[in-house]
Amino acid sequence: MRLQDKVALVTGASSGIGKGIAERFAAEGAHVAVNYRPGGAKDMEAAQAEAASFGPTAIAVSADISKREDVERMVQEIVAKFGRLDIAINNAGIEIKKPFLEVTDDEWNKVIAVNLFGAYLVSQVAARQMVKQGGPGKLINISSVHEDIPFPEYTAYCASKGGVRMMMRNLAMELAPYKINVNNIAPGAIATPINQAVLDDPVASKNAISEIPWGRFGKPEEVASVAVFLASDESEYVTGSTYYVDGGLTQQVTLY
Ligand code: NAD
Repeated sequence: MRLQDKVALVTGASSGIGKGIAERFAAEGAHVAVNYRPGGAKDMEAAQAEAASFGPTAIAVSADISKREDVERMVQEIVAKFGRLDIAINNAGIEIKKPFLEVTDDEWNKVIAVNLFGAYLVSQVAARQMVKQGGPGKLINISSVHEDIPFPEYTAYCASKGGVRMMMRNLAMELAPYKINVNNIAPGAIATPINQAVLDDPVASKNAISEIPWGRFGKPEEVASVAVFLASDESEYVTGSTYYVDGGLTQQVTLY
C-alpha cells in the first residue's frame, strides 16, 4: 500500500483518466475524494457509485473547478471529513476542436477556465490547506503532450496545457520550502470518453495509432501508475518535472 491513509482529491474523477487514478489510489490505501462536475445526474451517479465501491472512507464531492466558491467548499468538505488533504490531482479538462480563425471568445474562455484557471484554483486552495497543515503535500496536473507539442485546431487546449506546464514549474519553486512537490503527467492518446469520436471511427483510430510508436492507445491505469509514484513518498525528491505517458508519441518526428 503506497498511499496508506493519505487523503487525495481527484478532479473530474467520474470518468476516464480521473476514474482510473481514483480507483488505483483507493487500492493503494488512500482516502479518495471523487470530484464530479455539478449539473449532470449521470456524472453524480457515476461518482457516487465509484466512491461507494472504494469503501466507507471515500466520498464523492461536486464542484465546478472553474469556480472559486465551489473549489473552496469542496476542499472544506474534504477537510471536514478526513481532517486534512495530502494530494490534489488536477485532472478535470475539456477540449474544443475548431479552426483558429473560427474560434469564439466564449469557446476560448471555456477551455481556459477549466483547464488552466481551474488547475490554478485547485492548486492554490489545496496548497493553502497543505501549508496550514505544516506540509508536506503533492500537486499533480494531468496536462497533455500538448503542453509542449502543437495540435492544429486545438489552440485553446494547447495554450491551456502549456500554461499548466509553466504554472507547475513555478509552483515547484515557490512551494518547495513547504515540501509540496509539484509535477505534471502528460498523457498521449488514452482511450477515454474525451476521445470517443476517434475511438468510434475506425479510420481516425487507425490514423491516430499510426502516430504512436507503441502501436496502440494508452489506458487510464497506465497514467494512474505514474500518478501513484508521484503521489507517494517515493517521489520525495521529484519536483518541477513532466512525466510523459504517451507510448513514444512525442518522439515521433516526421521528417519526410
Ligand atoms: P474525460 O472527458 O473522461 O474526463 C474529463 C473529466 O473532467 C470529466 O469527468 C468531466 O466531467 C470533468 N470536468 C470537465 N469540466 C469540469 C469542471 N468544470 N469541473 C469539474 N469537472 C469537470 O477525459 P479524460 O481523457 O479522462 O481527461 C482527463 C484529463 O486528461 C483532461 O485534463 C485531459 O485534457 C487530459 N488528457 C487526456 C488525454 C486522452 O487522450 N484521453 C490526453 C492528454 C491529456
